[in-house]
Parts: sequence; C-alpha cells; structure tokens
Amino acid sequence: MENWEDTCNRCGQCCFEKWVDEEGGIHPTPIPCRYLDIHTRQCRVYHKRFEVGEGCVKLTPDVVATVRWLPEDCAYLRHRNRPRDTGESPTVSRRAASRRKV
Ligand code: SF4
Repeated sequence: MENWEDTCNRCGQCCFEKWVDEEGGIHPTPIPCRYLDIHTRQCRVYHKRFEVGEGCVKLTPDVVATVRWLPEDCAYLRHRNRPRDTGESPTVSRRAASRRKV
C-alpha cells in the first residue's frame, strides 16, 4: 500500500492564511505561514510542525474528508475523489454493493 503522505505534491497551497467571510466562505490569502519557504514551497520546520504553535493540522484521510479549506486541486482531495480500482468489473462491484444494501 502506498504511503499516504506521499500523495501530497508539496505545492504549499494549504500553507497560506485563509479568511472566512460572513457567509462562512473560505478564501486563501497571499500571506504564507511564517515557516513556509515560498521559493521551494517546503515547510522549514516540517518534522516539528505540530510543536511550533502555528495550528498546523495533520492531514489524515478522515481530516481531508471533513475540512473545507484545502484547495480544489489539492493532491489529497484528488486522491480521495478518484474511483477505486477494485480489480473487479463494474458489474460485479454493483452486485456486491447491492448485496450490502449500500
Ligand atoms: S494543498 Fe494539498 S497537495 Fe498541496 S501541499 Fe497542501 S496538502 Fe499537499
């Protein structure tokens, strides 16, 4: 099984401040986290990012499924939304799903 963290393409887009409008819409700003190297797009404190007090969030599959502030082209979101290759034909998959009443 692939390493979940290898899914991230290190684009750094999630490391910019966001603001929330009155309707709850989330908008990125051009203001980077102070630990983001804006040239390489790498976190300068990656291995201790949860200890430096910047509110960095560990992006587990469950977190990716619930947060609304990741950019649409975030590699985690694209990975999450891609169809799963089960190795079965679609017909078999549909039958299996209907047996489970999903
Ligand atoms: S936006 Fe997604 S792909 Fe880009 S650095 Fe953040 S987690 Fe990784």
